[in-house]
Amino acid sequence: MDLKSNEPFWLVKNGLLNNYPSLRHDASCDVLIVGGGITGALIAHQCIGDGKKCLLIDKREIVNGSSAATTSILQYEIDVPLYRLKELIGEEAAIASYRACGEAIGKLGEIAKKIRSKAGFRTKKSLYYSARKKDVSWLKQEFEARQEAGFDVKWLTEQEISERYAIHGAYVGILSGLGASIDAFCFTHELLAYNVKKGLLIFDKTALETVLYRSGYNLVTTSTGAKIKAKKIIYCTGYETTNLIPEKFVDLLSTFAIVSEVDKEVYYRYRDLLIWNTAEPYLYMRTTDDYRFLIGGEDEEFKDAIKRDSLIPAKSLKLEKSFNKIFTDRAFHPDFAWAGTFGTTKDGLPYIGKHKKFKSSYFVCGFGGNGITFSVAAMDMVSCWMNNLSHPLDEWFRFGR
Ligand SMILES: Cc1cc2nc3c(=O)[nH]c(=O)nc-3n(C[C@H](O)[C@H](O)[C@H](O)COP(=O)(O)OP(=O)(O)OC[C@H]3O[C@@H](n4cnc5c(N)ncnc54)[C@H](O)[C@@H]3O)c2cc1C
Repeated sequence: MDLKSNEPFWLVKNGLLNNYPSLRHDASCDVLIVGGGITGALIAHQCIGDGKKCLLIDKREIVNGSSAATTSILQYEIDVPLYRLKELIGEEAAIASYRACGEAIGKLGEIAKKIRSKAGFRTKKSLYYSARKKDVSWLKQEFEARQEAGFDVKWLTEQEISERYAIHGAYVGILSGLGASIDAFCFTHELLAYNVKKGLLIFDKTALETVLYRSGYNLVTTSTGAKIKAKKIIYCTGYETTNLIPEKFVDLLSTFAIVSEVDKEVYYRYRDLLIWNTAEPYLYMRTTDDYRFLIGGEDEEFKDAIKRDSLIPAKSLKLEKSFNKIFTDRAFHPDFAWAGTFGTTKDGLPYIGKHKKFKSSYFVCGFGGNGITFSVAAMDMVSCWMNNLSHPLDEWFRFGR
């Protein structure tokens, strides 16, 4: 699957940060992690911390899947509003899912601090505003649901949004105290390199091809002809997990992003704010730590990569126009535009857990706009499973729910 267009901003900005060899010899481990994106890196960090002998493979270069294209907004807010999620899956599950994403933001910040990351982790407020009059009443309902669940939220009127943030076309909004952003490409590289020093073995350009289930271990064959004996396998294979699992569990679509030239005035004004709205297709915005402004959205309901990439110029122009409509006193000058595959699930929640067709194996598929925070939440879940324990989120994130 072609997960992204050729030049996502982060890849150009950071270049090839670290190189790893392909696997050319047989190996054995406690845990085989398949996938070297942000999910694989977080899970490897957990497993290494828990004292497991851990080996990670990726069929591409490390961090060359969706984690190179992501816009890396870290939110407690899930694609499905809390009041709606409560209706769909019940109050306990909905609040637990929102809280898990909230806690993940703090946890990611702690990891970034611990590994002395230079990936620009920054906590921010988050403004979710109504771009259409018809969204005002449900946004109010959403505000009340979040307030009731104990989240730090404020209700902002049109005038307050305009005066504070010079945003035009916003009817009302929810300002949340909890949010952050990062450069996930850089962070993933850093986290993997940190764990290599603690014993993690990494091999890229090495695809998992076949698995035989033996008693007490899985025997994996790779595209490089190596055999790996692994007690457990954790699949962190992103959207390509759809190639492994027979039933449909995620809708794949295309999404687009642009990043501006360096503009310090805009950067300082919006440095500590994430912005997203209720438009269809929705828009979201953040600054980068090198003084740029980033806008994403304009999703299309197909995943054909050639069609997706051919739309980049037109989508870039649309995103630019949206900026100029919202911030009428300034212009957006784009420097980079890119596209990627994105996945949404029926309830906005990830698929994290066992699958009946895969023995001694687990999946961590942090889909949707909270892909990254879900992957952080999975760290604790994996740690429990490796000790034969269950986790409270198992039930809400499982396959076949
Ligand atoms: C444009 C865009 C914007 C986004 N914005 C946000 C955002 O603001 N916030 C957010 O939280 N999320 C966002 N997401 C989603 C987020 O990017 C993903 O949830 C996250 O990057 C997934 O990470 P991953 O490690 O699971 O997958 P990936 O980064 O895709 O890594 C999976 C890896 O598995 C490897 N692999 C697959 N199959 C095999 C195999 N058989 N053998 C070996 N290796 C294999 C692949 O090569 C790949 O490198 C966005 C996504 C896109 C595209």
